[in-house]
Amino acid sequence: MSRFLDKKLVFLKPYIPGEQPKGIKKLIKLNTNESPFPPCPGVKKAAGRASKMLNLYSDPACTNAVNAIADFYGLNSKNVFLSNGSDETLAFIFHGFCPKGAAFADITYGFYKVFADMFGIKTRIVPLDNDFNIKVEDYKNLDQTIFIANPNAPTGILLPVCMIEELLLQSPDRLVVVDEAYIDFGGESAVRLIEKYDNIIVVQTFSKSRSLAGARLGFAIANDDLISDLNRMKFSFNPYNVNTISLLAAEEAMKDRQYFEKYRKEIIDNREYLSSELRRIGFKVLDSKANFVFAGRHGSISAKDYYDALRQNNILVRYFDSERIKDFVRITIGTSEQMRLFVETTEIILKGR
Ligand SMILES: *Cc1c(COP(=O)(O)O)cnc(C)c1O
Repeated sequence: MSRFLDKKLVFLKPYIPGEQPKGIKKLIKLNTNESPFPPCPGVKKAAGRASKMLNLYSDPACTNAVNAIADFYGLNSKNVFLSNGSDETLAFIFHGFCPKGAAFADITYGFYKVFADMFGIKTRIVPLDNDFNIKVEDYKNLDQTIFIANPNAPTGILLPVCMIEELLLQSPDRLVVVDEAYIDFGGESAVRLIEKYDNIIVVQTFSKSRSLAGARLGFAIANDDLISDLNRMKFSFNPYNVNTISLLAAEEAMKDRQYFEKYRKEIIDNREYLSSELRRIGFKVLDSKANFVFAGRHGSISAKDYYDALRQNNILVRYFDSERIKDFVRITIGTSEQMRLFVETTEIILKGR
């Protein structure tokens, strides 16, 4: 650490991303919830077109991509804000919309705490119940901005939209941020609630269900005043936050509904297959509505040993060494071929014990 770093950042503990292995060794990568499928075909052509325009700045208003998102949801483009990954949108929200602090679950997306620390925001941690469910009543008397990952990570558990509405009704003067990174894998989006409530921001990403994690594309949906505040922050920080290649890619990915539907369904099918197989083998598997499952509490292997054994077999999953979830591993849903191999490998690992 240099002697020039501001004292308020000295204790900042950065977010630790899942490993991105270098060699394309025969490794099955199920650790960062990416899509196992390539982006839709239009993206490749778009990247070619975009490459010829890279001498110019990207469109700071992100017009065409924003319109494509608005069309997809049947909304006005004034209700859509595009960013460099949804992490950037979340950063703006922490920076600008948390004057009374931020409240979120003890087990949820790890970046919330990091953003709060980065921007000097006080946090109120609200524990999930014993079955890892959010108890909406626990938020009743809180006045901090609420962050709900829905479905939650790394549990995959979904909170029904009526419960989100309950949170909005608890206090009209409190903002609720619904991070729907995984909503396309079986949950109902809270997007429609923006028409009725002005204290909700829905955040989504192209990284999971649209196979574009490397393009860094995320967005917010909210009433026009909130969206214009997000733009106020963006234009005070990095007006060209989304590059031209990603802008064209976003447009293509939003317009190709057939491709989106096909692979989203395939992930859901593969998730149901993996969940039931792991249960058959003796694992506790939480009821996931995401593109991953959270599995563990097996009678004959600890989660850490399971993680290590999978790794020895060239399968990478995610293990979190923290008290309440140390008995589980998080497994990203891959292709049906990968899931069959995963189950096969698991059975071999357990046989050897
Ligand atoms: C993956 C993820 C994000 C961030 O995705 P980006 O790649 O930055 O768009 C945000 N929230 C949750 C809960 C996630 O799992």
